[in-house]
Amino acid sequence: MRSQDHDRLFLSPPHLGRHEMNYVHKAIEDNWVAPAGPNLTGFEADICEATGVAHCVALSSGTAAIHLGLILLGVGPGDEVLCPSFTFVATANPILYLGATPVFVDSEPDTWNICPERLREAVVDRIAKGKKPKALILVHLYGMPARLPEILALAAEYELPILEDAAEALGSRFNKQPLGSFGTVGVFSFNGNKILTTSGGGALVTNDAELAKKTRFLATQAKDEAPHYQHSQVGYNYRLSNILAGIGRGQMGLLEDRVKKRREIFSWYQENLARLPGLSVALAPEPAGSCSNRWLTTILLKPADPDATPGTALVTPETVRRQLETHNIECRPLWKPLHLQPLFQAAPMYGGEVCADLFTRGLCLPSGTAMTDVELRRVAEALAECF
Ligand SMILES: *Cc1c(COP(=O)(O)O)cnc(C)c1O
Repeated sequence: MRSQDHDRLFLSPPHLGRHEMNYVHKAIEDNWVAPAGPNLTGFEADICEATGVAHCVALSSGTAAIHLGLILLGVGPGDEVLCPSFTFVATANPILYLGATPVFVDSEPDTWNICPERLREAVVDRIAKGKKPKALILVHLYGMPARLPEILALAAEYELPILEDAAEALGSRFNKQPLGSFGTVGVFSFNGNKILTTSGGGALVTNDAELAKKTRFLATQAKDEAPHYQHSQVGYNYRLSNILAGIGRGQMGLLEDRVKKRREIFSWYQENLARLPGLSVALAPEPAGSCSNRWLTTILLKPADPDATPGTALVTPETVRRQLETHNIECRPLWKPLHLQPLFQAAPMYGGEVCADLFTRGLCLPSGTAMTDVELRRVAEALAECF
């Protein structure tokens, strides 16, 4: 971190442990600088163990994993892919890479994830319009499990394969089962801001050995079996390097600790923000069976009071963000819904009021696992000044 930023509180900075350097050092010492190597296989084995999924392929990013995952599910030009509107753009960009169209669906107000009723409406309507969606991308935003029982039942009813974008949800569980293990393919991200990081990286997990094999093939330029370079399909250069996988090995050993700490940070905010007089914010509780990794603690400012005097100054996320910025504290709005992005103007959308409302009222608070109680108090005090 740059020295002038010594007291800046970031939203979710990388947090390294003690063993990453050993794995990286060993890779360099053994000259395993070429992409594949023991750290890569070790990292993949660690992810399989943590998620209970049979196969893992470590890739250069979560976005690359979503791209390959959609190819595995057969998505191609002209296809439609169901996707929540309320997510990071990386969830939906790979749909465009493939010449397919996203069909966006609103959130439900409890988990903020894709609404099962709206999803059913979308599926029925797309089929009535003559095209059955090729796949569903399921996202667990900020680590919170989506409404899995309803969504899995709907996907089974319509035979829709699921790509589970668990980029933000490593370590989260539903009925004790790790997220990322519910879809035909699951995706994780190890970007610098995620709960664990390799600086940049991702992974695709699946219980299907054939799909895992195909992922490795596509991620390494789709080389056919031959002594010379022979190609009959488009390939990609998406493999994670053995050096970065070394960071990942060190990080994976910290997963339980990091989830515990993120959850403690959430609880701290929940308790202490409630005590601040005049602070009208809400934090999302976990529905029964859900255990969120609480990647980021998010708050919602209370909705506008319809009886309030018109023109009464309401605290908005932007006023809070600016106020925290004066204290050198980073905080960010929630993801701006994709159906409101210029990039996706033409895409169909089912509903939209719920995620649009969340966006206008929500904020992400600093949630890095290296945060101290003193730093948490700094955030709470700066927040209190806004109300
Ligand atoms: C971070 C993220 C991704 C993309 O992961 P990268 O590793 O940054 O490519 C995809 N989906 C969601 C929901 C994310 O938060």
